[in-house]
Amino acid sequence: MKHNFGAGPCILPQEVFQEASQAVLNFNDTGLSILEISHRSKEFEAVIAEAERLVRELLSVPTGYSVLFLQGGASTQFAMVPLNLLPEGRKCAYLDTGTWASKAIKEARKVGEVTVVASSADANYTYIPKAYEVPADAAYFHFTSNNTIFGTEMLETPKADVPLVSDMSSDILSRKVNVADYGLIYAGAQKNMGPAGVTLVIVKDELLGKVGRTLPSIFDYQTHIGSGSMYNTPPVFSIYVSMLNLRWLKNKGGVKVIEQENIIKARTLYDEIDRNPLFRGTAVVEDRSRMNVTFITEDKAHEAAFLELAKERNLVGLKGHRSVGGFRASIYNALSIAGVNALVDAMQEFEEKTK
Ligand code: PMP
Repeated sequence: MKHNFGAGPCILPQEVFQEASQAVLNFNDTGLSILEISHRSKEFEAVIAEAERLVRELLSVPTGYSVLFLQGGASTQFAMVPLNLLPEGRKCAYLDTGTWASKAIKEARKVGEVTVVASSADANYTYIPKAYEVPADAAYFHFTSNNTIFGTEMLETPKADVPLVSDMSSDILSRKVNVADYGLIYAGAQKNMGPAGVTLVIVKDELLGKVGRTLPSIFDYQTHIGSGSMYNTPPVFSIYVSMLNLRWLKNKGGVKVIEQENIIKARTLYDEIDRNPLFRGTAVVEDRSRMNVTFITEDKAHEAAFLELAKERNLVGLKGHRSVGGFRASIYNALSIAGVNALVDAMQEFEEKTK
């Protein structure tokens, strides 16, 4: 068995793969594949309803918020957020903490005025800026809670007097968040929620319908709210597998339980990075991500050799993003403590061999 540290699409629980593969052949004893049933069938309506219920339960989504399953990835949300939340003539505020944050900024600029309150681009996004002020007249404040590429995470919700909008693509469902603190949360599913192809949006209803611009129907959250995420054919299989994964998380004890596991996994791996003289973490210690652990070898010449050893030990998906180099171990919900221990063992073996 391989331990998959890939950043996304990524590991999901084996049970989920098994159940999903069964449903491809015969979904719930209907004699039909999940791939061929109508999205309007009562069977699929039950799936999407359960997926929504599980999101609401696992994240304690308060009343007054809609839960949507959309397409187009988190990248479509980079555009939909300003289109739906930035009124004509107003401005919005963004925190620039990495590649995805800056892509979100780029799209918002096509819609209206953007104030970038702070950026860590000066240090290749190795930290989260702390000293900034969000203008009180901004329509909303957008930040990326976990920076998948650079391995930094905002574990505390920032304070601002305007609605908070967060791209939680790579840490949703990995830790507790108080949804009531947010105006909108979005996340591409393909890390902790399910396979690629569906994007979760949780939006506070009262923020919508106030921008004073005509939106194409498909880019209007209200269209999707009005049609229960079925304005057009939804990604049936992605939603089904997400539902199975949400069930798995619930059966495990929910977000509170997985958060404790995630804390232990991250601590185990960072402790080894800090102890082992051959390796060094790239993100500043106080902003280290619990989901994407980025590190390099002190000696560049060791990089390929360690990747080779890791491969021999069935540890895959460890190569770092080209803008950071080195390694990135994505330790999402489904990656077990045993997987992290196997990586730590490989790092110690590498140290022994290199002596
Ligand atoms: N935001 C974050 C934090 C991401 O990690 C990613 C992709 N990994 C994206 C946005 C882009 O997501 P998508 O490919 O679903 O558009």
